[in-house]
Amino acid sequence: KGPTDKHEFQAETRKLLDIVAKSLYSDKEVFIRELISNASDALERLRYLQLKGEIAGDEKTTLEIHIATDDVKKTFTIQDTGIGLTRNELIDNLGTIAKSGSKAFLEHLKEESAGDVGRTLIGQFGVGFYSTFMVGDTVEVYTRSYHANSPGLKWTSDGSGTYEVSEADGVQRGTKIVVHLKGDCYDFAKEDVISGVVKRYSNFVGVPIYLNGHRVNILQALWMTDPRDVTETMHEEFYRFIANAYDKPRYHFHYKTDAPLNIRALFYVPEYKPTLFDMSRETDSGLTLYSRRVMIMAKANNILPKWMRFIRGVVDSEDIPLNLSRELLQESALIRKLREVLTNRVLRFFADQAKKEPEKYMSFYDDYGLFFREGIVTTADQNQREAVAKLLRFESSKSSSGERISLDDYASRMKAGERNIYFLAAPSRHLAETSPYYEAFRKRDIEVLFLYEAYDELVLMNLAQYDRKNLRSIENELHDDKENTDTVDTSDLHSLSKEDAESLKDWLKGVLLNRVNNIKMTRRLESHPCVITVQEMGAARHFLRTTLADKS
Ligand code: ADP
Ligand code: MG
Repeated sequence: KGPTDKHEFQAETRKLLDIVAKSLYSDKEVFIRELISNASDALERLRYLQLKGEIAGDEKTTLEIHIATDDVKKTFTIQDTGIGLTRNELIDNLGTIAKSGSKAFLEHLKEESAGDVGRTLIGQFGVGFYSTFMVGDTVEVYTRSYHANSPGLKWTSDGSGTYEVSEADGVQRGTKIVVHLKGDCYDFAKEDVISGVVKRYSNFVGVPIYLNGHRVNILQALWMTDPRDVTETMHEEFYRFIANAYDKPRYHFHYKTDAPLNIRALFYVPEYKPTLFDMSRETDSGLTLYSRRVMIMAKANNILPKWMRFIRGVVDSEDIPLNLSRELLQESALIRKLREVLTNRVLRFFADQAKKEPEKYMSFYDDYGLFFREGIVTTADQNQREAVAKLLRFESSKSSSGERISLDDYASRMKAGERNIYFLAAPSRHLAETSPYYEAFRKRDIEVLFLYEAYDELVLMNLAQYDRKNLRSIENELHDDKENTDTVDTSDLHSLSKEDAESLKDWLKGVLLNRVNNIKMTRRLESHPCVITVQEMGAARHFLRTTLADKS
């Protein structure tokens, strides 16, 4: 047995240890997630070497993680059968944080406010292991590398200034880490506490995890598998598990990409109709964020826009560093990019579904279409607003009753030179068709969208433009109509004389007083004696501004 070497942590490492232990993580329990992730990495690397045939025959042990709690000794132990570490690797990887870059990192820390740390650099630094010092007085690492004739080694430190490395007997290939818990962290020596934490963060880790001899993670990370290998039944079970639901998903959307960043996402839309609770903007997101199967954040509110909160599912991205606190994660540029990519893909998914299975889409639209309207009025970016508007469906003067068309359908039928998409809000098709506003448009054979829900008028006015065309209420149109005239053609027997028209106008002015702005004569109307027009729905605009002002 060789001598015990005493080493000093590099000065930078010491300072970093302090930062990690005190402020990098918001929850102490994440040390478990970090250790499981390291164990899982070590096992994956061994699996890779096995595949390449670089591991000697007798080294082909099963790939597992074992966790043990000891409530008497107050220890937490985690053991893997992975690649293990050589003496040099112990010194390089556990003795030094971020070998080459720690100086630069610390300088960066000085320059930036603490809140900016995670945004740029931390993810690139190996600091996960040091989270054990948040909960441990002393940490022991027993390890033996997969390399032939590697000795068993023991690494110990109290996380202050120094660590020791010595040879040790009876060490299996792989790594065992024993954390001697601090007085205020004895909870982590309790099986039920650890069981909860492991399930929360590591339920889908690819290798089996045992806690005091019992298997903990039995679920398959469905989002990581090839979409072609996932059956309908598997989707149902998985959806029920992650959404805590009893119904089936009506849609599932499995999305994988490696550019511009690595994403594995699996989204579901429930079969059930949204409840008032689902509609509330207070409701949390139904998404969980993972990095390589390890949970980073439940109810991840920033991954999709607020209005997509009806979507349940998981998002996994290798590019998201594990060791970021919630606060730092919330606002990172990475999360913004992730949200942008996913939002566009989800919008495209619904547009595709509308084409592929229109009937199914319309039933989804009837149940969930209100979220789209919210999406339009709460989104700032006009391109994205129009991508949502693409999903809207309305009856029109040229559709049959019950049939609904898209804004694209409307645009495809527009006459050359026409720049406006016209709509009319009315409680029913009958009232729309007999409306005095519509009369002039029917005469000119111009298609008009019929909006039966009052809020749709607000939504389209708020949208203002679609595909470089103006969205116009025909109520406004009549108001602005250049052909309106104060002079009345007396050659028409049925029309009033100029004098009669003037005296009618005077009489109306006297009766209506300042309830109207102006009274005009028009020849547009045939079957209605008069019509009331508005310049703009001031009240409606005000309503939009005040109730939906919190853009997300
Ligand atoms: P990171 O995982 O980001 O690299 P960590 O601080 O978690 O940073 O770990 C530092 C390094 O220590 C790892 O990159 C790995 O080389 C080594 N290591 C940690 N845990 C294990 C383990 N269980 N088996 C083998 N190597 C490990
Ligand atoms: Mg790690």
